[in-house]
Formats: sequence, structure tokens, C-alpha cells
Amino acid sequence: ISVTDLVAESYKRIAQVEDKVQAFLTLDEENARAKAKELDGKVGKADEYGLLFGLPIGVKDNIVTKGLRTTCASKILANFDPIYDATVVQKLQAAETVTIGKLNMDEFAMGSSNENSGFKPTKNPWNIEYVPGGSSGGSAASVAAGEVLFSLGSDTGGSIRQPAAYCGVVGLKPTYGRVSRFGLVAFASSLDQIGPITRTVADNAYLLQAIAGVDKMDGTSAPVDVPDYLSALTGDVKGLRIAVPKEYLGEGVGEEARQSVLAALKVLEGMGATWEEVSLPHSKYALATYYLLSSSEASANLARFDGVRYGVRSDNASSLIDLYKQTRSEGFGDEVKRRIMLGTFALSSGYYDAYYKKAQQVRTLIKNDFEKVFEKYDVIIGPTAPSTAFKIGEKIDDPLTMYANDILTIPVNLAGVPGISVPCGLGANGLPLGLQIIGKHFDESTVYRVAHAFE
Ligand code: GLN
Repeated sequence: ISVTDLVAESYKRIAQVEDKVQAFLTLDEENARAKAKELDGKVGKADEYGLLFGLPIGVKDNIVTKGLRTTCASKILANFDPIYDATVVQKLQAAETVTIGKLNMDEFAMGSSNENSGFKPTKNPWNIEYVPGGSSGGSAASVAAGEVLFSLGSDTGGSIRQPAAYCGVVGLKPTYGRVSRFGLVAFASSLDQIGPITRTVADNAYLLQAIAGVDKMDGTSAPVDVPDYLSALTGDVKGLRIAVPKEYLGEGVGEEARQSVLAALKVLEGMGATWEEVSLPHSKYALATYYLLSSSEASANLARFDGVRYGVRSDNASSLIDLYKQTRSEGFGDEVKRRIMLGTFALSSGYYDAYYKKAQQVRTLIKNDFEKVFEKYDVIIGPTAPSTAFKIGEKIDDPLTMYANDILTIPVNLAGVPGISVPCGLGANGLPLGLQIIGKHFDESTVYRVAHAFE
């Protein structure tokens, strides 16, 4: 098959399903077809082409792409065309993939259902009455619907893993620092990571291989060698020690999710791995800690959207202060405003010690919980989310219930360790469940090894 045909297939599929799924915010058809033609014109030996040569990819809309509209699904950036490519995009270009378009998300990556997009909600391809998860809902839905072969998402508190679980695909949040954040529009800089969403674990490893590594443009990217992830896909988990936190199978986790994890553990046991119950005692504080820290960081990061430097500017303003106010009032959606207010409050003088500083201290306790378990075990396993996807509209009026949905993914970001979600059976409503496999810092290889064996 030629790259031209492959790219044509992608747009054909998009034409068939996109009015139902609504995964894309922007398509880049003309450029993608031209790129395909250029790649087809390349001559060389087969092994000179990388593994990703000519493959169609979708990119979450908070990752900047030169000259290609990047909105973060926010009205405030409705007309924003970046002047540079994110490092991950440059790396994918070097690997000669073809960018098909930009993917829908919750506005500025705040949300768990894609209902916070400033433009339109993405639907779950398995059943369009249900949410695809979020915030990388477009990234997961586009892969699940066969519109692209793979996509990039971002994960601050579960935004790659939870939509991957809801859409029955594979999504990895790498170790904090594994992948450059240069060109990722920041939500909470100390938690954000870009990662791959794919159909299979092997595809996921190929994609991580292409985007991982230290970057001089991102001081928080880590100078840690990138191993050969493909060599981890041996299918062998003999002797592997698995920890299962009792907090991940307890209160707030549905029976279906619990049973599917127990069934997966049985499979892994049959392959020679062993598992034991452990405790991550500070998990109960993770949600509060996350919403304090992530909102505090967001309130600072989003201060730059003032109508002067980026995107849309209100034309009703009568003074400079009024320009800021009008632009931000008109441009940001309700959830983004809620987080900015919460974060600004938590950082204000007089409250800093009680909230932000306290949350930082608890974050350390949560991180230590993980480190302690990893002294004795190779991976931690649990569900990705408490249940299958929920219906569109079901939780949107109740932010706290929506936040509670992230209890199983958030601790992983707070600890900075890698986590993957792989499909793990179906619920009674016919929608997919996800299994979460969590590894030690920079040990994506073991995470992939277990995920691949289970696949
Ligand atoms: N759902 C979580 C939130 O709303 C996580 C989002 C994310 O990982 N970007 O903050």
C-alpha cells in the first residue's frame, strides 16, 4: 500500500464516521496528501525507513503545530495558528508520519468527558450516547473509530488513560520527564505529560520510542537513556511481582471493574507472575491534593491568555483592564473559570501555607507510598477507572462527581511514575473496561512487558 492510499483511507473513514464521533477540531487534508505524495516519491531500501514511515497520526489540540490551528478546544484560542512545532511533533515529522488533523479535548485539558470542549462534544465510538472520556477524548475516539492509526494525548490526572479505557484502546502516560513538554500548552506543569494512544501495546511502544528523550527546550525533560522498548515485548512475565493496592479495589470502585482486574490477575498468575495485596495509605488525599495543585498551577499558566498576546481579543473593552476582563470572561468556559478561581484563591497571601504548601507536603507522602511498594514489587495493577464510560450529560452538572471519577489515575501523576491503560473486557452495557499497569520511574519497559503479555 502506498502512503497516498493509506492517507486517503484515513480521510475516507473520517468522512464516514466523523459526523457521529466528532473527534477532530481541524483537518489538515491538503498538506497531509501532499506529504503522502512526497513520501511515496522517496526511494531507498526498505530498512532505511523507520517503523512509523507514512503512518497517519492525530494530535491533541493542546500540542502546538506550526501554521496548523491549535485551540486547546477553547474559544479564547479559536483563531490561534502557532509559529512553531512542539518537540514531539518535530520528532514525528523526523519519523515521517503524516499528521491528519487536530483532536478535540476538554478545554485546556480540564475534564473527564470531553463535554468541556468549547466547540463540540466528542462521542464514544462504541455507543454515541456515551462520553469517550477526557480530556484526550478526541485522541482516544479517533483511534477507536479507525480514523487514524495512532494519536498523541496529554495526561495531567488521567487524561490519556481514562479515555483509552472508555474507548477500548491502549494509552500510556510516560514517567514525568520522559517526553518533552516543549510546545504542550501547559495546564499543570508539574503533572503534564504527552503520551501515545494506539490500538496495540506494540504500536504504543513504537510511538513512545519516537517521541521520548531529553530536550534542551524543556528543562524538566530528564537526561535518562531511552531503552529499546520493543525488546521488552517478550510475552514473558515469569517471576514478576505484582502489587494490588487495596484502595484500588475498595470503596468507589464498581464490581465490574473489580472483577475484570481479578480476572486479569489470574491470567498473569497463569503465566508465572505472582501478586499480593498492598496499601497506598495516602491515596485518600490524592483527589484533594491534585485539584489544589493542578488548579494553582493552571491559574498561573492561564494568566498569559489576556487578549494581547494570543488568540481572540474582545472588542467591547473600554480600557486595558477591561480588555483583560472581557476577553477572559468571553473566552474561557465555566470549568476553566472554576479552576482559575480555585487556584487563585489557594495561592493568595494568607492561604498559601494552609492550602498550596500543605498539598505539596501531602504530594510527597503519596509519592513515598509508591516508592515503598516499588521496593518489593515490579508493577502495581488496578482498574483505570471505577466503571465503564458514563452517559453524556450524566455528570456534567456535578463537578465533584466528575472529579471523583479520576481517583485511580491521579495518584500516578502526583508520584510522577508511568502508567498504561489496556483493554480488559466489557461491562454489562457493552462498553470497554481498562486495566491500569503502573511502573517505577523511567521503567516503561516493564509496564509494556506486562501489558503486552496480557494483550
Ligand atoms: N480529569 C482531570 C481534570 O479534569 C484530569 C485532566 C487531565 O489529565 N488533563 O483535571
